[in-house]
Amino acid sequence: SRVDNPYSGAKVYVNPEWKAKATAETGGSRIANQPTGVWLDRIAAINGVNGGMGLRAHLDAALTQKGSDELVVQLVIYNLPGRDCAALASNGELGPTEIDKYKTQYIDPIAAILADTKYAGLRIVTTVEIDSLPNLVTNVSPRATATANCDTMKANGNYQKGVGYALNKLGDVPNVYNYIDAGHHGWLGWDDNFAPSAALFKEAASTEGATVADVHGFIVNTANYSATKENHFTINDSVNGTSVRLSKWIDWNRYVDEQSYAQAMRAQLVSIGFPSGIGMLIDTSRNGWGGTARPTAAGPTTTVDTYVDGGRYDRRIHLGNWCNQSGAGLGERPQAAPATGIDAYVWMKPPGESDGSSTAIPNDEGKGFDRMCDPTYTGNPRNNNNMSGALANAPLSGHWFSAQFQELMKNAYPAL
Ligand code: BGC
Repeated sequence: SRVDNPYSGAKVYVNPEWKAKATAETGGSRIANQPTGVWLDRIAAINGVNGGMGLRAHLDAALTQKGSDELVVQLVIYNLPGRDCAALASNGELGPTEIDKYKTQYIDPIAAILADTKYAGLRIVTTVEIDSLPNLVTNVSPRATATANCDTMKANGNYQKGVGYALNKLGDVPNVYNYIDAGHHGWLGWDDNFAPSAALFKEAASTEGATVADVHGFIVNTANYSATKENHFTINDSVNGTSVRLSKWIDWNRYVDEQSYAQAMRAQLVSIGFPSGIGMLIDTSRNGWGGTARPTAAGPTTTVDTYVDGGRYDRRIHLGNWCNQSGAGLGERPQAAPATGIDAYVWMKPPGESDGSSTAIPNDEGKGFDRMCDPTYTGNPRNNNNMSGALANAPLSGHWFSAQFQELMKNAYPAL
């Protein structure tokens, strides 16, 4: 009974809590009615944290917004054991071995609520476990980018088990559409990472009772900053006989933007056995890179570096930078079926919610201090030892960051 593209012909749920925060900001009413993801980022989020809305409250509000139309609700399943193994800012409440707690106290209760027949008329999109499986490909030994926590999670298999269990249980609900997180081009776009990641997604989707039929698609660029489309150069360009793949920015990647990456990853996934009907989502919440610094033409053809750096919209210091990026703007507004193979542009990361604190802040959420969120940090192997590019004065991940919200609006592309 599932439709091919749940976003086609449907409205998308506006989270009243995010809307209230956006509305309270100067100029925020221009975007406050945009749909954003509802992050179930801890067990307590199922019933609501600190008096906030829980899952049932969101689904009840979604029924009201739906009326007699079709409506998509976007949930983010984000609570794996040993979460965020290559970073510290979004470490969670479950230790590396707590897979049983993940199953019985997190996934089972969510699945039970989603299965309530009261909600059968909603199209429920679940994006499954952001930044988890890709870490097991790129941030493990013997690579220079390895972390001890990712080695642990690779060795114990609890990311694959958790993802498989979630896909299976959530996929049993007829109106749930599972999308697995597939990183972004600036992470998995290299030959060493691309096919192995697709293979790992298949492994996870074939464990704990899941099958590839439980997967409706994949999401890319969640909470990241990679541009949807770079228009001033392509991966096939050369400058004076030198391929742009040799530029510092591209650094041998096969892709220069999210749309080309998503379409290619889709083809790869189908080729190894995922259903031919899978669709991709691109998180465009913060990849607009507009404002006065946005290039309007290709860079000068002096060298591959002047050409790429002069023309690229994505103005990060390095593609591996991921925390509260300075200069970023809101990207394409959420929309259905924007391109071949793409089910929707979505705002899964709610603009204005921090990626991590720029200094250590004690908390009871399991959140650590990751220096990639500190603007004075000179980097690590995962961003090739570059400056972090992060904004200063940021609160804990998930907490409201007014200055970032204002900058995202200022640098929106398309402009507001
Ligand atoms: C945080 C979550 C938060 C989410 C959305 C993540 O980085 O760890 O707590 O819900 O971002 O803002």
